[in-house]
Amino acid sequence: MSNQNPVFIPGPTNIPDRLRLAMQVQTQDHRAPDFVETFAPVLEDTKRVFGTTSGQVITFPASGTGGWEAAVTNTLSPGDRVLVARYGMFSHRWIDLCQRHGLDVQIIDCPWGSGAPADKFAEALAADKAHEIKAVLVTHNETATGVRSDIAAVRQAMDASAHPAMLFVDCVSSLASMPFEFDDWGVDIAVSGSQKGFMLATGMAILCVSPKALTAMESAQLPRTFFDFRDMMNANASGGFPYTPPLQLIYGMGESLKMLFEEGLDNVYARHFRLAEGVRKATAAWGLELVAQSPDLYSDTVSAIYVPEGFDSNALTDHAFNAYGVSFGIGLGEMNGKAFRIGHLGSLTDVMVLSGLATIEMAMADLDYPIELGSGVAAAQEYFRAGHAAPMQSAA
Ligand SMILES: *Cc1c(COP(=O)(O)O)cnc(C)c1O
Repeated sequence: MSNQNPVFIPGPTNIPDRLRLAMQVQTQDHRAPDFVETFAPVLEDTKRVFGTTSGQVITFPASGTGGWEAAVTNTLSPGDRVLVARYGMFSHRWIDLCQRHGLDVQIIDCPWGSGAPADKFAEALAADKAHEIKAVLVTHNETATGVRSDIAAVRQAMDASAHPAMLFVDCVSSLASMPFEFDDWGVDIAVSGSQKGFMLATGMAILCVSPKALTAMESAQLPRTFFDFRDMMNANASGGFPYTPPLQLIYGMGESLKMLFEEGLDNVYARHFRLAEGVRKATAAWGLELVAQSPDLYSDTVSAIYVPEGFDSNALTDHAFNAYGVSFGIGLGEMNGKAFRIGHLGSLTDVMVLSGLATIEMAMADLDYPIELGSGVAAAQEYFRAGHAAPMQSAA
């Protein structure tokens, strides 16, 4: 099977050659005096992607899940209450992690396909007169359903009741692909990872932490050692690391930031919107429905698409892989068998997206889906063409 085909899973994403090469570095001594020159600029530049000047960037050798654990264990104590809405597999898994850490998790269950319910958060916070809720946890981009939530609206809901809870946001599948405003949204901890928008190998959890969360850290009682913010910040302050750093990923991260800034963050976001729109046009042309309930919730990094009644989305994704060597996202949790996902984040162009649409169309046609072969590709082609003005015929 060709390994030249892009993946259309919403992470890990395709690694551009420039980043694969940037990660190809020989071992270096992280205790040597020049390590500070490698690492400090990476931490500093990452702030721009989070949209912060006041936050502190902290990384750990871990996947995104480790970032969740670091956020919780550094700032909370056993029995602390957290407020969280469940509307997909990733919000569900964060809830599970909190419960296993002995937190008192107040859950608002929402239909999968909806987003963070700012109005319900407002009610719950207003009812919490004793301020027992210590943190509100929100998944910015629910990768299982292709739903992006409005974090500014959640912040407004918190401010409306003048509630002092911290705001923790999972931006693993949105950061560096869709706009993120750590300072403006009043986020206290944002959690991301290296293998999605940053287009790198898996293995670096990337967090941004507010001064308020650092204050909470001083009295937080949950145990942490490997994920201790203080150890990491103390070591980072002199350019070091409390244990062996993932050197290759740090080099990769430096180059990834360069790529993002060269393209321009606004252009990166615009590209993701365009790619997502192409996928959405194709979905409509097939006569299929997105899991996301309304356009304001559409994610620009992943589309979850319901298969028609009587079809099994797992058979579709299996067939696309077996017949054509292309991976699409399977339906997770409640969506298992009901929806497949097209990941469109990271290192991806119009042309690559067209190849993914053409492939899933073939797979659907092979399995007798009621779609017209070429219809989705054509719809995306028309949309992509319209975005590129034809060269002028004459300069008159
Ligand atoms: C990928 C992802 C994670 C982290 O998963 P890991 O496999 O631990 O990196 C967390 N939240 C969301 C929304 C994700 O998409």
